[in-house]
Amino acid sequence: MKPIYLDNNATTQVAPEVLEEILPYLSTFYGNPSSMHTFGGNVGKKIKEARAKTADLLGAQPEEIVFTACGTESDSTAVWAALRSYPAKRHVITSKVEHPAVKNLAEYLSRNGYRVTFVPVDKLGRLDVEYLYHHLNDDTAIVSLMWANNETGIIFPVEEIAAEVRRRGAVFHTDAVQAVGKVPVNLGESVIDMLSLSGHKLHAPKGVGALYIRKGTKFAPFLLGGHQEHGRRGGTENVAGIIGLGKAAELAGERLEEENTRVRALRDRLEETLVQRIPNAIINGDRDHRLPNTTSIAFEFVEGEAILLLLDEYKICASSGSACTSGSLEPSHVLRAMDVPFTAAHGSIRFSLSTYNTDAEIDLVIEKMPQVIERLRKMSPFWAEKAAANVCQIN
Ligand SMILES: *Cc1c(COP(=O)(O)O)cnc(C)c1O
Repeated sequence: MKPIYLDNNATTQVAPEVLEEILPYLSTFYGNPSSMHTFGGNVGKKIKEARAKTADLLGAQPEEIVFTACGTESDSTAVWAALRSYPAKRHVITSKVEHPAVKNLAEYLSRNGYRVTFVPVDKLGRLDVEYLYHHLNDDTAIVSLMWANNETGIIFPVEEIAAEVRRRGAVFHTDAVQAVGKVPVNLGESVIDMLSLSGHKLHAPKGVGALYIRKGTKFAPFLLGGHQEHGRRGGTENVAGIIGLGKAAELAGERLEEENTRVRALRDRLEETLVQRIPNAIINGDRDHRLPNTTSIAFEFVEGEAILLLLDEYKICASSGSACTSGSLEPSHVLRAMDVPFTAAHGSIRFSLSTYNTDAEIDLVIEKMPQVIERLRKMSPFWAEKAAANVCQIN
């Protein structure tokens, strides 16, 4: 039985059209795109095509696209490029809710000679833009902000912020890994200097990403080596991955409308029904400025991990807001930054949909979730206490 896959912000299925496009380049056409012979050169042509398609999706020029190995590499490349291009500037601005790809780099920088400002968000996950502008100064090398949050789907007004950052003389980078393919991106009409995206969040394979670098932006490569990518990223190209990303970008452009209509309607039905049928269920974050595919719901007084384990019995894949890697159940830094109470943060579940989800799948989740939560709450001492005190509405 196929899983009911509602964890598309973690990774996505490779689109069948993408797979079909890739396969010959993992077998018959194995040439090196840098070779002088036609056998390799033909592969180079295919990469050129993929670059044009990726640029198209972003409203960019093909020369402004550098292929990388992942979103994380794109993020690191962007931040280091700005720091190396402006060595006298020692200040970085980012937010408190970034993906670890930026968060952990920013924390590293703050321990290694840079000053880093982490801009806070409000209870709805909205960025404190005034705080950002207040801290922007002549020493700021780069402002790096995610376009859309991977946990809550909240969208930051990055185009507007980029304009102010440009006016004040710093570089602006956005981690758009979750935004690309879900919201319209037109870099031709913005002043964003650099933008990261990742193949596997977009129905391309894992192991490929891209960094957009606006023409004229000062740049220093992260990986030094061969002359690939016009000297901006050494290393023989991940040919199959890049071709897959090109095809996925083309499909994403065609499916952007469906993402914002059919997928959005599935998401809305899922969250509205769950919140109606399950007491003490709260949607995390600003519902008006959100990706169409994502919902983060707090089920108070239960553990997110326990919910996931029970959902797993029905082959329903979702994700929780906590990371139990350290052994202690630390609630997500995103929900903490939003001041979500402890009892809600711990029971937060993220459902992230894709174009491959169906009404029947959503029906099943709507049927199973109330049972799962009820089962867990029966075992929860917190819930028993609340129920006894008659604080909770019992349906
Ligand atoms: C997944 C993700 C990344 C990292 O991308 P990888 O390709 O897995 O390295 C970065 N930022 C955001 C917002 C993401 O969701």
